[in-house]
This record gives sequence, structure tokens and C-alpha cells, in this order.
Amino acid sequence: MSHTSFFKQVNLHFDRAAQLTQYEPGLLEQIKSCNSVYHFSFPLKRDDGSIEVIHAWRAEHSHHKLPVKGGIRYAMTVNEDEVMALAALMTYKCAIVDVPFGGAKGGVKISKHKYSQAELERITRRYTYELVRKHFIGPGEDVPAPDYGTGPQEMAWIVDTYTALTNNLLDAMGCVTGKPVTQGGIRGRTEATGRGVFFGIREACSITEDMQKLGLPTGLEGKTVVVQGLGNVGYHAAKFLQEGGARLVGLLEYEGGIYNPDGLDLEAVMQHRRETGKILGFPGAKDVPNPKGLELPCDILVPAALENQITEQNMARIQAKIIAEAANGPVTSAANEYLREKGVLIIPDIYLNAGGVTVSYFEWLKNLSHVRFGRMQKRFEEKAQRQILSAIEKLTNRKLNEEEVEQLAHGPNEEDLVNSGLEDTMVNSYHELREIMRRHQDRIDLRTAAFVDAIHKVARSYMELGIFP
Ligand code: GLU
Repeated sequence: MSHTSFFKQVNLHFDRAAQLTQYEPGLLEQIKSCNSVYHFSFPLKRDDGSIEVIHAWRAEHSHHKLPVKGGIRYAMTVNEDEVMALAALMTYKCAIVDVPFGGAKGGVKISKHKYSQAELERITRRYTYELVRKHFIGPGEDVPAPDYGTGPQEMAWIVDTYTALTNNLLDAMGCVTGKPVTQGGIRGRTEATGRGVFFGIREACSITEDMQKLGLPTGLEGKTVVVQGLGNVGYHAAKFLQEGGARLVGLLEYEGGIYNPDGLDLEAVMQHRRETGKILGFPGAKDVPNPKGLELPCDILVPAALENQITEQNMARIQAKIIAEAANGPVTSAANEYLREKGVLIIPDIYLNAGGVTVSYFEWLKNLSHVRFGRMQKRFEEKAQRQILSAIEKLTNRKLNEEEVEQLAHGPNEEDLVNSGLEDTMVNSYHELREIMRRHQDRIDLRTAAFVDAIHKVARSYMELGIFP
């Protein structure tokens, strides 16, 4: 385990990229520093009547654009340094995928499984109440979302608490994203981070020149994959990668990992875990103790759990040719340097897992506009496409059957539009980063290119405000 703090790790990446820019040191310092951190504690009355003090944080890293945005994490690892680091990553992430928000992150230091549903509801509502009191939440100020240990249920409690306390009822729904669809959420948000991870990996693997350097064939088909973490992000990334033709050979969880070079059926593994409480002992697979699973032979390693997983301790034993950072900060700065020199392609977190915040942006837009995407144009587009098809039928003298017409003349619904907006974002951003690498004669890696991109975009924003010349 590295002793450099997580926020310092992020800033080491930042500094490496900042050297390649011409901005004055004061501006770079402003971009890098975390603007505000709110640490608070409150009492929780447990179901058995005892009282426990809960520690919680919200960090707002950069206000160059408002609102600031980022998830809320429920985990025992939460501390001030972690929320600051994660908030900084949010700033850079939003800039890279052109989501017009500053970065933030929140955390509550709890081990979620120790609390009943009623206790979690009390914690979440009190956490929200404290944020409201200090203006650390609001559709135009700071908009939380799910992160490790939280999901749509917590977001529903947050929006309900906020709505009860605010006078701005018209926009209240936009105070948080990742809500259930029935509570102002958007279709496709739950899968969004994993789907974005898939689009990013697919794009990287589609570039023949880059794959040749790694000694790999072009495309996803048949590439072997190990995924660490089967939470929302890891599960969906694994699912889309498997559907996209990759072979899942290793899956890793708290209890250990499983390995089968012939491939693992993800749904069958999930079923086995539901039945036995573990992924271990999966028929046909070999059990692998933690943390050895990260060292399994594979083409693509997808860390989708927590930070600091690939460090100086294990970097020399990593066999993957591509590391796809679905989690935030899974590779330390020192390990990053070592692996880069070894020729490993690291697809960095601040690009690769930005699908979540991208679709959060769509959800926020939906909330503020009070209309579902596709509501106006779906039927209109379907009709127009049917007219074109019937003109083609007349010209070609061939009648299409109803199934063919259905497939071709399909007006987009909300999910179609969300997924296509996400795909467009991930594909375009990848090429933007590659272009930056090319401008530096391929002497920098993708992470540095991503930081350079983010620094330029945030710097431009400050300069447009006239704060810096
Ligand atoms: N927690 C997610 C992340 O780290 C999503 C943040 C959001 O949607 O605001 O990117």
C-alpha cells in the first residue's frame, strides 16, 4: 500500500500534465485546490435505542461551473482526503466529457451492511438536511448522485428530504441524480457508468495501430477480461463486454476471485453468488485468493472497486496489456509510471468512468425541462421513416414485412436517446484524448492527455471570467 495520500496521488498526475501547459502557477494552483470541504457529524438513533455518532463530508472541488456534481459514498474508508481526491477527479471528469459542472463528492463513514433499511433512511435524510442547512445541495449549487455503497433508494430519500425543505419546488427534482425512474430519474442511468466503460474499451480496442503496439488483434472479440468488483459499475461493464464478444476469464470480489481461461458466464456467476453468498466455488472455475486475482493472465484488467488497488506492491506481477480504470484511482501514480514504461495501455478513470456523470447531466436536464426525452419527436420520426420506407418499397418493387418495418422505422425513446448520447460522448472524448497524445508525439500517456485536456478546459473557463489574464 502506498503512503502517498489519495489527493496527493491525483495532484501528482495533475502536475505531470500541468508541466505541458503554459498557464501561470497561480491559475494552476487554483484549478488544483479543493475550494470547500464540509465535515459534520450527527447522532443516529439505532433501532435498539442506542445512539451512534456518524461522520460525514461533502467536498466541492471547483466552482468554475455551477452546479458542482459528484456522488455520495457510504463506506468505512471515507475520510476527508478521500472525498477531496474524488471531488477533484469529478472536476476533471466533467471537463473531459464536456459536462458543464464543477466537481464535488460526498461521503458517510459507515459500513452499510451493519444498518437496517430504516437506519439507512434516517442517516440519508439527516445527511441531506445538514447539506441543505449549509447550501451544499441544490439544483443550481451542488447535485449529488450515487457512488460506492449508494444507489437509487438513497437518491429517492435525498430528493424527498430536499423537496420538503426547499421553497424552489419547480426545480427541486434537479437537486440529485441517479433517482429511481418513478421519482424523476432517467432510463439508462443505472447502467450508464458500466456502459460508458464498455464504449471506452471498445473504442480503444478498435484502433489497429494501438492494438498492434500491444501485440493484440483489433476489436473486442475474444479478448480475455478480468473484472474486479461486481457492484453496479463492474457488473454492467462485465455484462456489456461479454455481450460485445469479450471473454470473461476472471471475476474478483471481497471474498476472493474465480478464474476460468475458457470463460465465465456472468449471469450464472451472479446466480451462484445469490444462492451461496459468494462467487467462490463456482463450477468449473479455480478459486483465487485476494489480492492475487489482479495478477491473473488477461488482455484487459478492469478494476471496478475502490482506489489504490494496483500499487508498487503488485505492479511487477500485473500481466494485463490494457488496464481499464472503471473505479476512481485504482492505479497509484508510481504504478502508473512503471506500467506505462512497460507499455501497458491504461485507460484512465477520469475519462473511462465518466459515463455516469454524463447520464446524470441528461437526468438533470430532464428534471429542469420537465419533459421526458423523445416525448415530442418519437412518433413524428417513426411516421417520417415509414413514409421513406414506403417510397423505397415503391421504387424497388419489394414489400418489407412488418418486422423489417418495425426495425427500420423506430422513433427513439428516452433510453435510446440516453444511450446514443452516452456513446457519442465516450467515442468523441476518446479521440480528443488520442489527438492530444498525437500532438505530443505519443510521448505522453492517455492519463496525462486527459489531465491536459481537463486543465485547458477549466483554465479557459477561469480566463473567460476575467479572473486570470
Ligand atoms: N459517482 C459517480 C462518479 O464518480 C457519478 C457522479 C454523478 O453522476 O454525479 O462519477
